Amino acid sequence: MTDSASKLRQDLRAAGLSSAVIDAAWPAWWSDAAASSTSAQVELRLSLARNLGIAPKALIGEKVDFVWHDRARFKHLKASETSELGALESFGTSMAGSLIQAAGDGPGLVGLSAANLRSILLTESSTVDLPSLITACWALGVPVAHLKIWPLDRKAMHAMVASRDKRHAILLVRETSFLSPMAFTLAHEIGHIALGHVRSDELLVDAEDPGAAVEDDEEERAADRYALEVLLGDPDPDIRLNLDTFNHAMLAEAVKRQGPEMGIDPGALALAVGYRQNAWPVAMAALKLIQTEPAPVGDLVNAVARSQLSFESLGSDNASFVKRILGFDDE
Ligand SMILES: [Zn+2]
Repeated sequence: MTDSASKLRQDLRAAGLSSAVIDAAWPAWWSDAAASSTSAQVELRLSLARNLGIAPKALIGEKVDFVWHDRARFKHLKASETSELGALESFGTSMAGSLIQAAGDGPGLVGLSAANLRSILLTESSTVDLPSLITACWALGVPVAHLKIWPLDRKAMHAMVASRDKRHAILLVRETSFLSPMAFTLAHEIGHIALGHVRSDELLVDAEDPGAAVEDDEEERAADRYALEVLLGDPDPDIRLNLDTFNHAMLAEAVKRQGPEMGIDPGALALAVGYRQNAWPVAMAALKLIQTEPAPVGDLVNAVARSQLSFESLGSDNASFVKRILGFDDE
């Protein structure tokens, strides 16, 4: 790599971006021969700027300056953890913009009540689960994708919602092999959009599992209640089990029997017990008996994204970047 390109890479690293995300943003056409061309050098910088949300001028000058900053709210994050968040904010907003541009339009989720969303979903399937939530988001013009590459060296967050041009995109980050925890996360993020928590050109980041976090934040509580109402039909479900006598196997049997009778996905019901009674180990053990074949849920999320996104509506460098971030390695 030439001096100028390696200096550029160092500057991007110094601004807090991970090597993996810089590699993903680096255009495939770049070569040592391209380095001697001024127009290729400019093109390289414009591509990186577009993909990573950096002001193009900054890449020609000396300091990396993120286009999108001071527009994000971070949930469950301690003040001591806030370095490098400008890089995350610009990446998230830029990525959301690309997904929105490549996704079909729709009425969006803002203002849609949990009860309405649940009744729409129940006209198509017997319970509300992850596939039905994903399908609804895309049908309403809200892309949902799972990030396979994380823009920072530091710990990954849980999920993000970003808005561009009055539309929204949901970026899932958590890794899980079970459908129900991801369904809860997605329903929580849908709640943030529907309840108007993410205004135009803003980004909201959930740093931790919304279900498992101790909530002292009004928006977080409201998004949890929204999720519970969509998934269970009740924002405040009165579920109580004596977990001294009710083990995970009995919980799994009970929710498999009773969930479908109430239009509730058994995994969602087991998680609701964990949520209400702060009994995550029992709920997670029950999940393993409910979904007996664990598989990376992010792959399922991105299989739908792949079928829905029109990559030809993006510039080729930007399309390559989005495909790498979503783990599509066939470009
Ligand atoms: Zn949240």
